Amino acid sequence: MANKIRVTVWNEYRHEKSEAKIAEIYPEGIHGEIKNILSECDDVEVTLATLDMPEHGLTDEVLNNTDVLIWWGHMAHGEVRDDIVAKVRNRVYNEGMGFFPIHSGHHSKPFKAIVGATGDLYWGKDQPEIVWNIMPQHPIAKGLPTCFELFEEMYGEPFRIPQPDELIFNSWFEQGNVFRSGCVFYRGVGKVFYFQPGHEACRSFYNENVRTVIKNAVHWLKTDLTPDNVDKGCYHQRASVLEELHAKK
Ligand code: ZN
Repeated sequence: MANKIRVTVWNEYRHEKSEAKIAEIYPEGIHGEIKNILSECDDVEVTLATLDMPEHGLTDEVLNNTDVLIWWGHMAHGEVRDDIVAKVRNRVYNEGMGFFPIHSGHHSKPFKAIVGATGDLYWGKDQPEIVWNIMPQHPIAKGLPTCFELFEEMYGEPFRIPQPDELIFNSWFEQGNVFRSGCVFYRGVGKVFYFQPGHEACRSFYNENVRTVIKNAVHWLKTDLTPDNVDKGCYHQRASVLEELHAKK
């Protein structure tokens, strides 16, 4: 099919290699399971990238051919090269690549650089979570029930982020904490969606509602920008745009 959505799934891929119980939950790696989720869509093609690949798997060739970049990292955020973070940020801000950090991606370098936040939050033991679908009219929430239950690592407020441009999900945890679990940010000409479920020791990537969110989000995050409608600079003035406009009158 022409014009497939080109998704690159980036995973740190350390827990699965160092902890047998995590490898048991995700034998193909978290990135492998996300690829399985997206393989349910015939209009998506997936590239896999991991921290230990050359250039973290994010060469210019890969990045420039990525419409949506999914990011899962946790124990090795500090090992991600700053020059690659800058390229990821540039792709979002100036070229409209979608950025989709999941779970502990809230503390990743690209999340902080793109959203402009520390990403700090409260966290605690794994426990029941109810995800409330508070913006059912949003494309990311398409097909979801009013709420659904997961067993997840507790992430709680205050979550140190700018106010999201759109808040799609809000979660309750049994211990009493609440958390903004589905947040949209518009940055430059790109779109960002942060989604909280996805702890490596839980099984949320097998949950049907989580899988729906991931599929919906990938479709929504792709922008249809062309070089014609993206200005990559900060111009003193750009008379040609106005000249073209006036010439059409
Ligand atoms: Zn976690």
